[in-house]
Amino acid sequence: IPPVHVIGAGLAGSEASWQLVQQGIPVILHEMRPATNTAAHHTGDFAELVCSNSFRSDDAEGNAVGVLHAEMRRAGSLIIATADRHQVPAGSALAVDRGGFSQAVTDTLRQHPLVTVEEGEVVGLPPAEWGSTIIATGPLTSPALAGAVQDITGEERLAFFDAIAPIVYRESVDMEVAWFQSRYDKVGPGGNGKDYLNCPMNREEYEAFVAALLSAETLDFREWEKNTPYFDGCLPVEVMASRGVETLRHGPMKPMGLTNAHKPEEKAYAVVQLRQDNALGTLYNLVGFQTKMKYGDQVRVLRTIPGLQNAEFARLGGMHRNTFLNSPVVLDGTLRLKAAPHIRFAGQITGCEGYVESASVGLMAARFAAAELRGEEIRRPPATSAHGALLAHITGGHLVEGGSGPSSFQPMNVNFGLFPPIDEAVKGPDGKRLRGSEKAVARKKLMAHRALADFEGWLRDSPEQQAA
Ligand code: FAD
Repeated sequence: IPPVHVIGAGLAGSEASWQLVQQGIPVILHEMRPATNTAAHHTGDFAELVCSNSFRSDDAEGNAVGVLHAEMRRAGSLIIATADRHQVPAGSALAVDRGGFSQAVTDTLRQHPLVTVEEGEVVGLPPAEWGSTIIATGPLTSPALAGAVQDITGEERLAFFDAIAPIVYRESVDMEVAWFQSRYDKVGPGGNGKDYLNCPMNREEYEAFVAALLSAETLDFREWEKNTPYFDGCLPVEVMASRGVETLRHGPMKPMGLTNAHKPEEKAYAVVQLRQDNALGTLYNLVGFQTKMKYGDQVRVLRTIPGLQNAEFARLGGMHRNTFLNSPVVLDGTLRLKAAPHIRFAGQITGCEGYVESASVGLMAARFAAAELRGEEIRRPPATSAHGALLAHITGGHLVEGGSGPSSFQPMNVNFGLFPPIDEAVKGPDGKRLRGSEKAVARKKLMAHRALADFEGWLRDSPEQQAA
């Protein structure tokens, strides 16, 4: 079997390399550090953790990233096994001794007989002669390679900044207050004139909301982020608010073309609109609400919006330097670049977010590449698993064409909103239907059990497992 080239020995590239060599496939692993560094890395180690030393919750029943950990353990993940070995106490989170962790990943790969490490930056698109290649160069992909990717995908298909609006679970929106309606009842493609959730404000509520935005604490841009332009039509909501009390009411919060279904006689002074964020309809994002507010302040301020007083957030807003593809458009269902199918992408550049998610996409890309090289059918993990849910977000389960911009695809952590919902009623030990938070906890547990069982089925059915 010819070698697979893996570009980038970060979280995704390290996991991808490991998965390939476990299947007997040689790897040529390209890494530019330490000779060429990024703005966030400090060492030449593989799988360096650039910020927190936590892989987040390890709760495999109540937290989607915990389910992802559990699935990765079942699939023999190098990243999770090494994290388990270098764990430091962190309550229910999986946190690691960062130096020990990265050193161990580096040693494991450098010492593996099937891994050849090529030091140096890859400055152009991998040529077809390289054969199967996985690009896993992360959120800080070097400018030369990013430019080459942009040349082949088209300029608007590679973003350098994410402007993330908060996302809420649809079931946590108070429908006694909010209502479904598109502005002027406009029927767009695939819509029915009721595509948006609307949260109304009277003048008093609006003015108090603007004041709350202005008093919220925000995070600063890092020095090296300040040079990246993002301001085209994409201002943080608190910056818009600072330009004058009326600015938001004439921007994302304009009330025109909307009639409160609960109180048709009352004209709203301002309206917050939420747009469906995933094909399942379980998640909604706050349109135009990209923000640099600190997380605690975001929750506090956004829960003052009528209808969102009990909102649960699948993701809070943020704005960061981040290189990522419009994957639903440029990648196929198995992470291949449509325009050059010998290339797959993995890690954060595909539009996942986080160390664990990046590694899990590396795991999938490697298994897909391995199956392809052996001439086997490429099987995607089931959509009910955490891996499958994340893959569906990346490769097309997500809405692509949004109402206001060229694309609404934005990076995301794994979360239960990406999993197909459990429809049946959930009952307690007394046989009675559960309600409220008890119901939500029970549903998560059912989703988590279903995910693990289905993922194990996927692993068991793989041709190499069956041969073994
Ligand atoms: P990386 O881990 O960044 O790996 C990419 C690798 O590719 C790097 O080693 C890089 O040197 C190499 N490379 C780049 N270009 C080339 C090239 N042309 N040729 C050869 N090699 C190249 N996630 C969390 O879960 N928790 C956090 O606390 C967190 N903090 C973050 C802080 C910052 C500043 C940033 C930018 C991101 C953060 N993330 C965090 C998000 C993300 O999960 C991590 O960046 C994660 O490391 C992404 O994994 P990856 O494998 O896709 O990329």
